[in-house]
Amino acid sequence: MSCCGDECACGSKIDFTKTPVEEIYGTNSFSNALMREKLPKNIYREVVAVQNGEKELTAEVAEVVAAAMRDWAIAKGASHYTHWFHPLTGLTAEKHDSFISPTGDGRVIMEFSGKELIKGEPDASSFPSGGLRATFEARGYTAWDVTSPAFLKQDKTGTTLCIPTAFISYYGQALDKKVPLLKSIDALSKQALRVLHALGNESVKRVITTVGPEQEYFLVDKEFYDQRPDLMLTGRTVFGALPAKGQEMEDHYFGAIKERVADFMRELNFELWKVGIPAKTQHNEVAPNQFEIAPIYTNSTAAVDSNQVVMETIRSLARRHGMEGLLHEKPFAGVNGSGKHNNWSIATDDGVNLFEPGENPESNARFLLFASAVVEAVDRYALLIRSAVATSGNDHRLGANEAPPAIVSIFFGGPLTEILDNIAEGKSGGKSASGAQIKLGVTSLPNLPKDVSDRNRTSPFAFTGNKFEFRMVGSSQSIATPNTYLNVAVAQVLSEFADKLESLPAGSAVSNKNEAIQDIIKESYGKHRRVVFNGNGYSEEWVHEAERRGLPNVKNAVDALSVLTRSETISLFETHKVLTKEEMESRYHIYLEKYSKQINIEAGVTIDLAQRYIFPAVTAYASSLAGDASSLAAIGAASAPQEKRAKRIAEILAELYDDIAKLETVLAEAQGIEDVPAQAKAYFEKVRPAMDLIRTKVDSLEKMVAKDAWPLPGYEELLFKL
Ligand code: ADP
Ligand code: MG
Repeated sequence: MSCCGDECACGSKIDFTKTPVEEIYGTNSFSNALMREKLPKNIYREVVAVQNGEKELTAEVAEVVAAAMRDWAIAKGASHYTHWFHPLTGLTAEKHDSFISPTGDGRVIMEFSGKELIKGEPDASSFPSGGLRATFEARGYTAWDVTSPAFLKQDKTGTTLCIPTAFISYYGQALDKKVPLLKSIDALSKQALRVLHALGNESVKRVITTVGPEQEYFLVDKEFYDQRPDLMLTGRTVFGALPAKGQEMEDHYFGAIKERVADFMRELNFELWKVGIPAKTQHNEVAPNQFEIAPIYTNSTAAVDSNQVVMETIRSLARRHGMEGLLHEKPFAGVNGSGKHNNWSIATDDGVNLFEPGENPESNARFLLFASAVVEAVDRYALLIRSAVATSGNDHRLGANEAPPAIVSIFFGGPLTEILDNIAEGKSGGKSASGAQIKLGVTSLPNLPKDVSDRNRTSPFAFTGNKFEFRMVGSSQSIATPNTYLNVAVAQVLSEFADKLESLPAGSAVSNKNEAIQDIIKESYGKHRRVVFNGNGYSEEWVHEAERRGLPNVKNAVDALSVLTRSETISLFETHKVLTKEEMESRYHIYLEKYSKQINIEAGVTIDLAQRYIFPAVTAYASSLAGDASSLAAIGAASAPQEKRAKRIAEILAELYDDIAKLETVLAEAQGIEDVPAQAKAYFEKVRPAMDLIRTKVDSLEKMVAKDAWPLPGYEELLFKL
């Protein structure tokens, strides 16, 4: 079956096997290239100026863009449009409106105004607002995000024009993940510009952040998935004994891709290419049936949107291929979990990557300055950065099987660390390639690591040649929040650097500026280099070493989220006008509530499966063994093994019975707690351990019960059959 062939279920007429990629790429994206083609020159220029933050969007411009967008979408078969947004659930939301407008004589015309493009009123009062609005204040508005292209969503039900938007309340408070992201980019741009201008680079007008998220996921056969209520309801298996073979052979990583999966991946690429998402790499991951897809990086707002589309497409397309895509951070205990590597950098509007070691002494000095700003930010705001990845799914992953630990540290690699260390110790920045002492801004740096040879895959925050790779992000998360926090943290440090640089007397000589840069790095890096760690982040020694260095190791999401309520965190966000105190507090509550709800569902599923699937099936099996034992005894044959096994199973069943009762008790207690943080704590401290206890019993039973008597497909089917 070839999707998007002649008989394709999705309704598309494009046959991917016959059409060249260049002809398909971006056909469903209202990209700048398309706007350049469809809009009058002056209007297109206005749109670009708005994208660059140089101008406000005017009603006239919106009107022209809306008309062009409508004509394009309708010509491609769209009957509806939606303001597509990122509520605080971490998913995306859409409410579809058709283009129709009655003409009064029983007919309609297809309309879409500038007003409808730039502003929507989806109401959407059921999304979490953390107390920011009562349901009677139902009004919520969506506003067009010009920095991320509109796109067409196509499936067999039809075509919809999706307009990326930000979602705000009647009083202007952020109800989504896009608003703070956009504001954090502005904040970072403002402070980075101050630094760049102070360094003498007057021509730069704006900086943006660039992001390339690598997405990990599992695929399982739909037939088995459908028999696992835990996977269906929670995205992870609450039970499952490890098969004789796990991932220890590491034969899956980068292995040959199975044909069925390759077929899926091929279509995944095409689907993404159609909407202008530059899917580039794909491979098998470490765990069996685990995979990764990475697009080429783009500006971070588009990357955030694209990543949501990638996740959605993985899931919907997998179903068309008789599989299910799992995005949970830890669908299977005992094998690798899934993360999302958030590759992040800062670039100027004239195309300079500020984390690219330079070609000349000045750009090297700038690079080192921005790199040390990141070091300081990650050290000072380690708790905030940790909180950006605090979810119930990630609690299973961080610090377990090949995932970075919950300790936030930075990897720089040997040569770069040495240079920064030397500067901090007043050794004039180390030695240059020729062996001479380096004076920042004057001498060239030795060759810095630019390629994979000097990578460290165990670091949660790794410098990888021209960008930082934040690896703690969970696979199911929206990357909006991690990027927002990173931007704000770095903006704050840059603002302090800028204060120092701007205090130099006007017209200072270049040499004075270089001295100033050197002094800033010396002080900042000297104070914060404890967060730099180039060793094995998965080792036990690192946990102790980090403790000696005073680095926090917050192991669970509930504790990690509490940083959001600290006064210094709130003032950081208020200073940079990214989120207000009220908005921060609402977010804290929403994230905790989500955490509690997820564990509540998992606990419910655990009880249900243990009670209604495992208990009866295992009881029947133990009875049949006991029956076998008596039949064998009746003919004088050896019956002890059957009897022993039946007894052992019955013993574990009795324990299981008690454990279920325990879970029911603590679950009811947790459900009864009204205080949101206290409730989340109870779910973490009481409910989760009670679930784990049940899991131990069930998994040991699975190993004793005949395969055909076990009521659920096992890990061998889920992980190896495709
Ligand atoms: P690996 O798996 O070795 O980390 P990949 O090539 O799979 O590397 O992914 C690297 C990701 O980093 C890609 O999405 C790539 O586009 C992205 N990337 C490269 N340069 C930048 C940059 N300047 N800013 C943000 N992301 C970047
Ligand atoms: Mg990576």
